[in-house]
Amino acid sequence: MKILVTGGAGFIGSQYVRSVLAGDHPGCEGAEVTVVDKLTYAGNTANLPMAHPRLTFVRGDICDQQLLLRTLPGHDAVVHFAAESHVDRSLTAAADFVRTNVLGTQTLLDCCLRADVGTVVHVSTDEVYGSIAEGSWTEEEPLLPNSPYAASKAGSDLVARSYWRTHGLDVRITRCSNNYGPYQHVEKLIPLFTTNLLNGRPVPLYGDGRNVREWIHVEDHCAAIHLVLTKGRPGETYNIGGGTERTNLQIAEQLLELCGADRSLLRHVEDRKGHDLRYSIDDTKIRTELGYTPRRTFEEGLAEVVAWYRENPNHWPTNP
Ligand code: NAD
Repeated sequence: MKILVTGGAGFIGSQYVRSVLAGDHPGCEGAEVTVVDKLTYAGNTANLPMAHPRLTFVRGDICDQQLLLRTLPGHDAVVHFAAESHVDRSLTAAADFVRTNVLGTQTLLDCCLRADVGTVVHVSTDEVYGSIAEGSWTEEEPLLPNSPYAASKAGSDLVARSYWRTHGLDVRITRCSNNYGPYQHVEKLIPLFTTNLLNGRPVPLYGDGRNVREWIHVEDHCAAIHLVLTKGRPGETYNIGGGTERTNLQIAEQLLELCGADRSLLRHVEDRKGHDLRYSIDDTKIRTELGYTPRRTFEEGLAEVVAWYRENPNHWPTNP
């Protein structure tokens, strides 16, 4: 099997690449992997085993049609992670999000069609559904994105669906909840709080901290993506949840404890514009159809993540 992974130098993409090369998923033993990554501020080749004999790294933009048409032929599958992914940045630089997430996805799908790629997994997010006060979203829920990031991801989901419906390209969409794990860029909540607290610096908590997110370990997300690639159905969307709901305040309190930091380092700051109150995924479909079950418990996983940042202080540039 030959898999091309876009955005493979980022947080989740690199976990997926490392796990495929390690033979962690059924059916990927001996697989060859090509990573296409632009190496924006969020990409880091140190996330990848660059000398691995079954890994080829191509620095490139998913909006670059010529590069994709040169690189894609011969690949059985594409797993598409490349995106601008940070909600806060999308509030001030939305054009970058529309360009990469919408135009980049369309360019990639068009090239996959022309290069006769077998299957494409389009990796999306629960944020496309908006915010939900009670209950959980199934895949049938309407898309009501609130941030420019979520809107650009929703746009890319619709483009993906259209390439299946119009052209018969085998595209499968996944929508996952918030990921945590090692190698995540220090701009995101858990790494930002962890690295600040380990350095004795204050942490900025948006508003009253009561926004709820559902957390999943990045290893469970990647296992689910591989299940969708190998056992999923063309044209289908699969929600992927971790099952652990926490308020941001609860996360902050847990990290204060794990880092041995004083509560005085917790600073309430003005809330993010349009901040969604709660995300919650109903992932019955992937559990019943494909046999997905998350394996990592949040408490153990979070302690491991803190230990990873403690042991790898120079992996990412220090926070501004
Ligand atoms: P990330 O920001 O850590 O990594 C994104 C990667 O894409 C980087 O390596 C970057 O260099 C690359 N990239 C950006 N623009 C590119 C372009 N134009 N061409 C080629 N490469 C480009 O993101 P992540 O957290 O690993 O998220 C990966 C995917 O998973 C995204 O599509 C995101 O929407 C989705 N997702 C993320 C989460 C989460 O909690 N992090 C949850 C659900 C879904």
